[in-house]
Amino acid sequence: MEKKIILRDDEMPRQWYNVVPDIPNGLLPPLDPETKEPMGPEKLGAVFPMGLLEQEMSTTRYIDIPEEVLDIYKIWRPVPLVRATNLEKALGTKAKIFFKNEGVSPVGSHKANSAVPQAYYNMKEGVKRLSTETGAGQWGSALSFATSKFGLECKVYMVRVSFEQKPYRKSMMQTFGAQIVASPSEETRTGRKILAEFPDTPGSLGIAISEALEDAAGREDTKYALGSVLNHVCIHQSIIGLETKKQLEIAGEYPDVVIGCCGGGSNFAGIAAPFIPDYLSGKKIRFVGVEPSSCPSLTMGRLAYDFGDVAQTTPLLYMYTLGHDFIPPGIHAGGLRYHGMSPIISALVRENIIEPMKVHQLECFEAGVLFARTEGIIPAPETCHAIRAAIIEATREPDKKQTILFNFSGHGLIDMASYDKFFAGDLHNYDYPEEAIARSMANLPKI
Ligand SMILES: *Cc1c(COP(=O)(O)O)cnc(C)c1O
Repeated sequence: MEKKIILRDDEMPRQWYNVVPDIPNGLLPPLDPETKEPMGPEKLGAVFPMGLLEQEMSTTRYIDIPEEVLDIYKIWRPVPLVRATNLEKALGTKAKIFFKNEGVSPVGSHKANSAVPQAYYNMKEGVKRLSTETGAGQWGSALSFATSKFGLECKVYMVRVSFEQKPYRKSMMQTFGAQIVASPSEETRTGRKILAEFPDTPGSLGIAISEALEDAAGREDTKYALGSVLNHVCIHQSIIGLETKKQLEIAGEYPDVVIGCCGGGSNFAGIAAPFIPDYLSGKKIRFVGVEPSSCPSLTMGRLAYDFGDVAQTTPLLYMYTLGHDFIPPGIHAGGLRYHGMSPIISALVRENIIEPMKVHQLECFEAGVLFARTEGIIPAPETCHAIRAAIIEATREPDKKQTILFNFSGHGLIDMASYDKFFAGDLHNYDYPEEAIARSMANLPKI
């Protein structure tokens, strides 16, 4: 059997898949934070273009990918599906392990899959500038790349702990022409308020989102872009799973278990959702969503309406949450430090279709190092969570013949400072700070 399963350019899917109409018992709508009534596109139109809002509200299963987006996707897509034969050997497992290598994108992660269509729909509607937040810097890099392709300006609020840990992410965003500032910043009301109260805060995605939204709300020429969580982002990421299905078909394989790490849920939704219709028609397949023990929204949080940001400016989303003012410890998987979870992933967990799993930081880095030494690719700290779960599944019953598929969401070549700390013994495990969650949970909006 081939080590890599490659598709030709013309075999790339030309439509995205939207899982929303297939979710048993459906999704609850986003609510207006003022009236607590379902929020329509009129109000959201202030920060998002109509093209994306239509997708956000869509109940259509298949959505055409615009030609201009397909053209840019072709820079790195279709991406290889790889059999991790060397890892299998090292583990002594009879399981077949496949990974979809989203690390081959220009910015090194799956985030470009949504950044490109987001920049495209904004450009189509005459928007000149996008504001956004970034955790580990991956989304900021992806949006910087995408805006450069469509001639838009880009302003990135980068969570401070990552701004300090990942200087090369800044360099990358600058290379693509974006402006970057550490969040909380002095440039917004929210940022100044938080700095006055907590001058040493590591920042959080929730804070950075508030700053980016404030920026967009204050300027006519600017709209806002979010790199995960929302339905339209999950729709764009479905290209991962759609390609993977074709590739597995070519290989004559079908997964028993599909694994992905969960920050806001988009890369996991991307690989998992296209398999959901098979599951619903009776195919035996498990879906495992992996999160850090230090930010355990699916395993320790509550399914409730909550804000997506600290300043309580976003619509209320019905999702697993640790509370919008939860500030997770400064772990090195910055992309997984988010208090909430995509409503799509949340609903699939509610329906017991997705099994959540939590893992500790150190076992993830160990898994990442083993992966690097066997398969030769250094994974992003976020991706290490998926690898750790794949190893757990493959070694629980090593003689079991099964096929494990995981999403390799990104490479770690710009995260080497985190590996240095791991090797120096400077990284620690954090269990979720129980009192902090309880305090934050007490502030959930009352619906
Ligand atoms: C952002 C990121 C994640 C987490 O985000 P999701 O929306 O949950 O996919 C995971 N892996 C990498 C490499 C990332 O950049």
